[in-house]
Amino acid sequence: GRQLDLFHFQEEAPGSVFWHPKGWTVFQGLIDYMRRQQRRAGYQEVNTPDMMDLSLWKRSGHWENYGENMFTTERDEDRILALKPMNCPGHVAVFNQGLRSYRELPLRLAEFGKVHRFEPSGALHGLLRVRSFTQDDAHVFCTREQMHAECIHITQLTLAIYKDFGFDNIVIKLSTRPEKRIGADELWDQAESALANALGDLGLEYTVFEGEGAFYGPKLEFVLRDAIGRDWQCGTLQLDFNLPGRLDAEYVGEDSAKHTPIMIHRAMFGSLERFFGILIEHHAGALPSWLAPVQVQVATIVSDADDYARDACARMQAAGIRAETDLRNEKINLKVRESSLAKVPAMAVVGRREAEEGTVALRRLGSKDQQVLSLDDAIEILKQESLPPSET
Ligand SMILES: [Zn+2]
Repeated sequence: GRQLDLFHFQEEAPGSVFWHPKGWTVFQGLIDYMRRQQRRAGYQEVNTPDMMDLSLWKRSGHWENYGENMFTTERDEDRILALKPMNCPGHVAVFNQGLRSYRELPLRLAEFGKVHRFEPSGALHGLLRVRSFTQDDAHVFCTREQMHAECIHITQLTLAIYKDFGFDNIVIKLSTRPEKRIGADELWDQAESALANALGDLGLEYTVFEGEGAFYGPKLEFVLRDAIGRDWQCGTLQLDFNLPGRLDAEYVGEDSAKHTPIMIHRAMFGSLERFFGILIEHHAGALPSWLAPVQVQVATIVSDADDYARDACARMQAAGIRAETDLRNEKINLKVRESSLAKVPAMAVVGRREAEEGTVALRRLGSKDQQVLSLDDAIEILKQESLPPSET
């Protein structure tokens, strides 16, 4: 983080990230990407309060089952507010506005929700274990009949998204009922077999982890295996037959009677902070062009080419490419070395000849070769590379 000037941590905010411009560019890129994917997959984005009355967390069961990880305030004498450790109750509150019909289901609500969870200071570890983080969280409200199709839909979307980030090797874990839980055993039986059936229909292999489910339902966990064989748990899909009932969620069914929907909790990145950390590890800092905070540096060999370099950079920026110039009065070898230490994926080198001919010499990170192209062609290539693989 420090070497690439992406983010830092400091004493006064244990487990919370200070994002620098470059890191925040990448972070926002992750959100933009996920927003496009979710929109296409039929999700609607919402935003819910960070602090809510403790009584809500008592009703949801979080206070009893998760209270030791929650931060609370005691600002007012007569009420205690809690910082949300999860977005679920907020989404049920949105669902509960107005009378819902079975025709609206499945209703998929998504939020880039910032959550806070207490982690002992000894457990904090860079971006990988923090106390405040952003989830690409969503809750799907559906009927019992729709549950199976939704699990398949979510699993397929999750695997497709990991592919865009270069992760093909995914381990799937099915975690079953823990000791500390809410809800009848019969509901747990149904939920656990629903998950197993969805995986079976997709022909995916998985491992069962007895007793590792959430307190409100069983879950699937998606574990990414990175470039050097390390495992990282990221996405989750949790079936929940409990929370909607506890928080009075209802819809009117085809039979005109009231029913309690099933809720599926799902996150694909999981924590964006953590996913970012995993990407840095997986790519050893050299993020693919579509994610890199600076995609190309336009560097001059002689100051006579300064105006041309500025113009070339402006045209790249106008085409949506994250470009910057290096016009310093330094040797080109030094500029190349620094650009490569900063892991900038491409460099467009310009001298007197390039300025006269309207070309650039395009160099790639980690390669000594360069390719002389017209500025237009270079812009076209860089534009293509600034898209995720599934969108090119
Ligand atoms: Zn949830």
